[in-house]
Amino acid sequence: MQTGNINVTAQNIFPIIKKFLYSDQEIFLRELVSNAVDATTKIKALASIGEFKGELGDLSIRIQVDKKAKTITISDKGVGMTVEEIEKYINEVAFSGAEDFVNKYKDKGADKGIIGHFGLGFYSAFMVAKKVEIITRSFKDEEQGNHWTCEGNPEFTLDTFQKEDRGTDIVLHIADDAEEFLEDHRINELLNKYCKFLPVPIIFGTKEVTEKKDDEKEEKKTVDNIINNPEPAWTKTPTDLKDEDYKNFYRELYPMTFEEPLFHIHLNVDYPFNLTGILYFPKIKPNMDVRQNKIQLYQNQVFVTDTLEGIVPDFLTLLHGVIDSSDIPLNVSRSYLQSDAQVKKISGHITKKVADKLEQLFKQDREDFAKKWEDIKVLIEYGMLSEDKFFERAKSFGLLKDTQGNYLTIDELKESLQENHVDKDGNTVVLYASDVEAQHGFIKKAEDKNYKVIVLDTPLTPHVVQKFEMAYDKMTFSRVDSAPVEQLIKKDDSEKNGLLDEKQKESLKSMVEGLVDAKKYSVTIDNLDANEDPVIVTMPEFMRRMKEMEATGGGGFYGMANLPETYNLIWNANHELTKKVMEEGDAEKQKALIKQANDLALLNQQLLRGEDLQNFVKRSYDMMS
Ligand code: ADP
Ligand code: MG
Repeated sequence: MQTGNINVTAQNIFPIIKKFLYSDQEIFLRELVSNAVDATTKIKALASIGEFKGELGDLSIRIQVDKKAKTITISDKGVGMTVEEIEKYINEVAFSGAEDFVNKYKDKGADKGIIGHFGLGFYSAFMVAKKVEIITRSFKDEEQGNHWTCEGNPEFTLDTFQKEDRGTDIVLHIADDAEEFLEDHRINELLNKYCKFLPVPIIFGTKEVTEKKDDEKEEKKTVDNIINNPEPAWTKTPTDLKDEDYKNFYRELYPMTFEEPLFHIHLNVDYPFNLTGILYFPKIKPNMDVRQNKIQLYQNQVFVTDTLEGIVPDFLTLLHGVIDSSDIPLNVSRSYLQSDAQVKKISGHITKKVADKLEQLFKQDREDFAKKWEDIKVLIEYGMLSEDKFFERAKSFGLLKDTQGNYLTIDELKESLQENHVDKDGNTVVLYASDVEAQHGFIKKAEDKNYKVIVLDTPLTPHVVQKFEMAYDKMTFSRVDSAPVEQLIKKDDSEKNGLLDEKQKESLKSMVEGLVDAKKYSVTIDNLDANEDPVIVTMPEFMRRMKEMEATGGGGFYGMANLPETYNLIWNANHELTKKVMEEGDAEKQKALIKQANDLALLNQQLLRGEDLQNFVKRSYDMMS
């Protein structure tokens, strides 16, 4: 029997493990099961190249909980460890890893999920155990194995040990403050989170199954409970999978989600980096938050994290699915990740694949793509705004819907607006509505003039509009209710004739101004079309856009936090009713008519509220009686 001091070059590792990693205690199981998987993969590899000639046998990994003895045992039939290997990999190497770890993270606090990447994986056992035993027999050793123990301090014991079969048992004597891990449901939870797709069968507990015997009798049997799927869909070749297989895998990933994904992308790259995975497009609601953390990152089928920030562009975090890559460095900070060349390549590749898929779907069946458009448009708009490369690609499949239900690409739209939508300065003016119900009257007025109105109704609309204006020369966007339509697409400078003379206009203006809040409403008396409304209230396009941008963040409008709400209140001097109001001899009655007309214009824009609305209703009844 050998006893000794673990070679601690930095400082005692055990307090460090407790201190830095306490919050992430549960990863001990992932680390120990991963080691068991590594050892199993190694023996399989050795067998396949003829280095190991014995029987492989059942290679399942077993997890056993003994509540009485307060132990958790993880057993594998992998390569095992010789005494030299224990000395090298457990007693020495782990601690040089620890030194790195301490140096890098002593000031910062540890990022979750990195412990395994510092060769500290095995020692994470001490986050939950007061004593750890390794009982192991290497495939190189005959009969004799080794027994190592350590009680969470720098001393260990190492002795030979009679072990029947090849492989390793790690026995954790659970500490008093970690007894939650002796509960089956907790272990199940962890296995389900971290080990669901490990490439070797993992057995925890038993389950009952009913089997039909030859004589048609049913028999109940207790069998090992395998908790993982060692061959998840993303590890297979796409040509071997049917649409149904992808849907089934989606259900496997998100058992609590009932909605089906719209379509999927199977990623499969060997060079210049290693990347596999399946991404799903879910139905995306307009107000959905990004960073849903629905994509899971794996390394060689070991779950690492579901926070992909810095690894894929933000807009893609709206997708669901799995990415598996051993080429994503995890022992670094998120901000470093974003500047890492390899990660940039991976991120660029994923973005490209998403664009390829969308373009393919669009070309293959445009009608079907249009049907799905409403469910994916937020993601595509977000992508267009945040990634210039994606914007360039999206020009070929990004759609814009008009109020008649037609879907057009931006180029098709531009083409269809030639002539009619071009104003006196040669700008193509795109009219859009953000709410077809609320802006119905304005849409109708535009359509009556044979104008096309498109629907842009996501929270990203002001940014999208801005992006298009910057990308396309001589193309401007105006919301259909931001001015009378004849002012939105101004065909010439000529002044229309009106029904009021200059003096009447002056007097009307001052009367209207006397009835509204001058800070909020800028009053003008204009000669509009005779069939335009007598009074119109609008918020100018640029003003509304600034406010919206400021509300959704970005757009370079910082410092305008309290932009006042101002509107144009336009009286149509070319309308019969305006003339009638001006001809009213009774001053009281005239005032009431002006007030009533102002309120109707406000009502038309959902701007009449509270007491003003109540007064309006009362005044209307009074006028009727
Ligand atoms: P890593 O897995 O990153 O190498 P660990 O601290 O998890 O670091 O493990 C250290 C080493 O101990 C492993 O590289 C391996 O050589 C050895 N080891 C740990 N667990 C086992 C096991 N179950 N079977 C065989 N070797 C193991
Ligand atoms: Mg490990």
